[in-house]
Amino acid sequence: MLFDHCAECQRCCNVESGYPPLEITLTQREEKRLGSICIQIKCDHLGNQGCTLGDDKPFGCTLYPLSYNPQKQNFYFDADCPLMDVYIQGLADSQSEASAHLAKVTAGVAKLEKTDPVFLQQNFEVDKAYFDLKKITPFKTKTKSKKSSQKATL
Ligand code: SF4
Repeated sequence: MLFDHCAECQRCCNVESGYPPLEITLTQREEKRLGSICIQIKCDHLGNQGCTLGDDKPFGCTLYPLSYNPQKQNFYFDADCPLMDVYIQGLADSQSEASAHLAKVTAGVAKLEKTDPVFLQQNFEVDKAYFDLKKITPFKTKTKSKKSSQKATL
């Protein structure tokens, strides 16, 4: 299974030595529930089998290894995640784990565009600064606009 590798890798829940701490961007609702999550070296919520938060896992973490630019309405992939090639190939199959993940986070993004657009913008700013983002598809969460034909840039 595609994401089985995550429990072993755990790279995205750790900060490599020499890098600044990573503050996980939280939605307003998550902030009320979780306070804040700042990874100095290893996330406090990381267990041997991966994230221990279950259904309370922050949306930004669920979204990873994707990132979403709310202005361009584009999804990006963190090229440092070793699953990138397999994930992108998987998108060709609507029944794949990658397609299921993309559908799930697309639904989450659509909801947050209405309820917490500030989170989406802040999350993308952090992702842009921290990750090596590659645009994956011209996928849109809304109907096409004139902007969709323009060359995509971050
Ligand atoms: S909250 Fe969970 S998924 Fe997010 S960084 Fe921490 S351990 Fe990883």
